[in-house]
Amino acid sequence: MGLIVQKYGGTSVGNTERIENVADKVVDWHGRGHRVVVVVSAMSGETDRLIGLAKSITSRPSPRELDVLLATGEQVTIALLCIALEKRGCPARSYTGGQVRIRTDNAHNKARIQDIEADSIRADLDAGRVVVVAGFQGVDEDGNITTLGRGGSDTTGVALAAALKADECQIYTDVDGVYTTDPRVVPEARRLDRITFEEMLEMASLGSKVLQIRSVEFAGKHNVPLRVLSSFQEGSGTLITFEEANEAERMENVLISGIAFNRDEAKLTVQGVPDRPGIAFSILGSVSAANIEVDMIIQNIGRDGTTDFTFTVHRNDYERTLEILNEQAARLGAREVSGDSKIAKLSLVGIGMRSHAGVASKMFEALAKEGINIRMISTSEIKISVVIDEKYLELGVRALHEAFELEKAV
Ligand code: ADP
Ligand code: ASP
Ligand code: MG
Repeated sequence: MGLIVQKYGGTSVGNTERIENVADKVVDWHGRGHRVVVVVSAMSGETDRLIGLAKSITSRPSPRELDVLLATGEQVTIALLCIALEKRGCPARSYTGGQVRIRTDNAHNKARIQDIEADSIRADLDAGRVVVVAGFQGVDEDGNITTLGRGGSDTTGVALAAALKADECQIYTDVDGVYTTDPRVVPEARRLDRITFEEMLEMASLGSKVLQIRSVEFAGKHNVPLRVLSSFQEGSGTLITFEEANEAERMENVLISGIAFNRDEAKLTVQGVPDRPGIAFSILGSVSAANIEVDMIIQNIGRDGTTDFTFTVHRNDYERTLEILNEQAARLGAREVSGDSKIAKLSLVGIGMRSHAGVASKMFEALAKEGINIRMISTSEIKISVVIDEKYLELGVRALHEAFELEKAV
């Protein structure tokens, strides 16, 4: 018997029938003597619908009011789930993020959790109740409602598990664990029984949306045992493990654990800028001054005293970045500014890569065989990323999955 935090995502609570299915699962855990805290997302599609409503009024709704609006999605599901639990004779209480004092900073739409008062939740658990908390939301110092960024209910779950020192945080979703790649793109993808925290962090940051990156960061920082499982079928899912050293030994032969991809980026190039000290700063300084985050960066070898500079930003920031670069072009002495928003980033992730040469060349060979042109490359100890044209993304993912034989069990 232990204390368990369970998070159910949008598809898992997509209609009242599914909410009743979640209630059955919760009643089962509670009935076996566990203390259960449940975090739920908004019903699937609801957050998008609410954003659409705001955008039908103005393309730039104020971040504060957008948070007030978006937080309503999760408030609907906490109440419906408690109604379903009470119907089953299971004592339960729902709380919004603000009510359980999930205190965040004031960065509306992408707030970070700073602190949770766990005492009132503990009192409910002591009284035998199931506690149901709205995911994705909190409240800042001044009492304003904040939200945690898309996919943020994962982070609510992990943060509550950390605050309550839960025995496990279970993320229930519409797939039965973490796969070698998105099973919707590669049906042959294989479910992993375990993945190291370090690899999961890399997969999430490179675009695998099965867990919000901040939830993985939080779990790492606070040592929260984390598991991804299905709401719709039985199974033990995927455990995110912390035993890095042993794990590395055990998986010595495993080069690659997974393939992540991301369609949310765009690339920009400044051509023919004078090749002199400070040029990277002049270009990127103006971009970061506009609060735009830069991901991959390439500067070419100079030729005839000039050089080319290419970098990627989030696709939502593409137009704005292009504007900034065009404004700066004359000042920089650049020949031309160009860009492409139809790109995708594809990444191989694996701690086994550390001790093996030849992963990159095998990756490039597999892409070349499919006639896929690589536009940018970046590497770290445990990942290799390439930027390719978006239209080849699925083909590329499948080609790499096959080349590295990820469908085969180790
Ligand atoms: P939820 O609404 O439950 O939070 P999400 O849609 O956020 O669910 O995350 C689950 C989805 O993540 C899956 O349906 C799957 O398409 C996608 N996904 C991407 N990469 C992976 C991966 N490596 N393993 C499993 N699922 C993945
Ligand atoms: N409802 C929010 C979203 O759609 C948060 C979440 O589901 O995790 O992004
Ligand atoms: Mg999610």
